[in-house]
Amino acid sequence: MTRYVIVGAGPAGMNAVETIRGLDQDGTITLISDESAYSRMALPYFLTGEIPRQQLATGSEATFDKLGVETRFGAKVSAIDPSKKSVALDDGGEVTFDKLLLATGSSPLRPAIPGVDGANVHTLWTVEDAEAVLGAAGDGKPTVVLVGAGFIGLIVLNAMHKRGWDLTLVEREARILPRMVDRRGSDAAEAWLRERGVKVYTGCSVTEISGDARKSLRLSDEQVLEADLVIVSTGIKTNLEFLAGSGVELAADGGVLVDAHCESSVSGVYAAGDIAAGPGAAGGQAIHAIQPTAVDHGRVAGSNMAGSEVTYDGSLAMNILDVAGLHMASFGSWADDADTTEVWAPARPVYRKLVWSGTRIVGAIMIGPVEDTTMLTDVGMVKGLVQAQTDLGESWKKYLHEKPWDLRRPYVASGTATTLLKRSVVGGAARPRSYTHEGRKPPNTRSPYHADMAGTRPEGFEDLPRTPTPGIYKKGEA
Ligand SMILES: Cc1cc2nc3c(=O)[nH]c(=O)nc-3n(C[C@H](O)[C@H](O)[C@H](O)COP(=O)(O)OP(=O)(O)OC[C@H]3O[C@@H](n4cnc5c(N)ncnc54)[C@H](O)[C@@H]3O)c2cc1C
Repeated sequence: MTRYVIVGAGPAGMNAVETIRGLDQDGTITLISDESAYSRMALPYFLTGEIPRQQLATGSEATFDKLGVETRFGAKVSAIDPSKKSVALDDGGEVTFDKLLLATGSSPLRPAIPGVDGANVHTLWTVEDAEAVLGAAGDGKPTVVLVGAGFIGLIVLNAMHKRGWDLTLVEREARILPRMVDRRGSDAAEAWLRERGVKVYTGCSVTEISGDARKSLRLSDEQVLEADLVIVSTGIKTNLEFLAGSGVELAADGGVLVDAHCESSVSGVYAAGDIAAGPGAAGGQAIHAIQPTAVDHGRVAGSNMAGSEVTYDGSLAMNILDVAGLHMASFGSWADDADTTEVWAPARPVYRKLVWSGTRIVGAIMIGPVEDTTMLTDVGMVKGLVQAQTDLGESWKKYLHEKPWDLRRPYVASGTATTLLKRSVVGGAARPRSYTHEGRKPPNTRSPYHADMAGTRPEGFEDLPRTPTPGIYKKGEA
């Protein structure tokens, strides 16, 4: 009987637990995490008030009982000893394992700014952080300065914008979202935010934060900003201090180095999610600190730990973001400029950039207002083309240069959907999650754009000839 120990109850750890249990009903599973099992990705919906705190949870006592998992929530791993096959807990306890998964994620970095640890200065990474921010805001509409305009900073900004709070964004680099989109994308997002009343300061850093109930932020150009609340989103670090002296090899730029089985340099010790530098879809090793990679890693590691060998294709760099109604997405090698197809309509604004390597699309940026139907459906198709590494050939490349709006034709003709439908991370479909809060399902209330997006049909629609969609057949058809 195998003893599985999983450290970290985020999406990487939880997906590993569920995958292991699906394959091995006899082994013991111990899940150790200093927090309970919940989804950080859902925090913005809690912040806006769209969901209650309980709905952040990804498991309950009953779920873990059903899965036969012993939980050690509130316990922190302080060291691991692969030779003794044991993990040490900070309360002095010890847990032994046959297979160990490290899924401890990452934590926000606080920059070394005087006053950064003062009152009303928050990061937004945990449920406690979100509760503290909501508590400080009370029923009012606080003035907030957000320090750091990366992916997470903008996710938080979007939630606060929905609440109608007064927002100011400060970014040390010359443009916002510098690691997600190129200059044109940044400029489009910045202009969009300014039009909606968000103040944006780029190319200057915060040098000092002072004050108590009312905060003052001094900028590197000597300007001073006032705020009720300060939110710091200036990067993350992987949680791997407890690995010191363990012999587990780390990647040069941090993260636990894992192979395509998500196994580390120490046999029987696996790593998944934000903590893992795993194979990248474009080759090499990479930390992709995003939910989809955590889920994939967790499933791949879980399978291999339970003896069902699975080789991971590699994670794709991707970010998808709603910036106060402007949808932004980037995939793969979006920064390359050597061979591109571009559309830029600043008035909407709409921006799409396809980055080519020969006749394959290896990266893309897609930006447009939420109500732009083409944008919404094309985001999925362009992601598919990058992920499948489809060779479109010269004629489709030429076609896309001439008609960059018509991704659907090359997508369908190249069989990309079929390629992707056949792919599966662990050789089988994901099982239904055994837990949802109060059995809730996603709301299906229609947005004001629903009629534009899905409700319109041309006259005589039912009589029009159909274009076959790969993988989707009507009953009775081949
Ligand atoms: C506000 C916010 C919004 C986000 N939105 C998106 C999004 O829209 N799309 C997207 O792709 N990604 C998003 N992310 C990122 C995504 O949530 C992370 O990539 C994901 O949670 C990583 O999963 P993980 O399982 O590796 O780590 P985590 O979810 O961080 O879980 C790790 C767990 O391990 C615990 N732990 C750490 N050290 C120890 C230790 N020594 N002992 C015991 N336990 C330990 C931690 O407390 C934590 O509970 C968002 C993140 C935040 C904060």
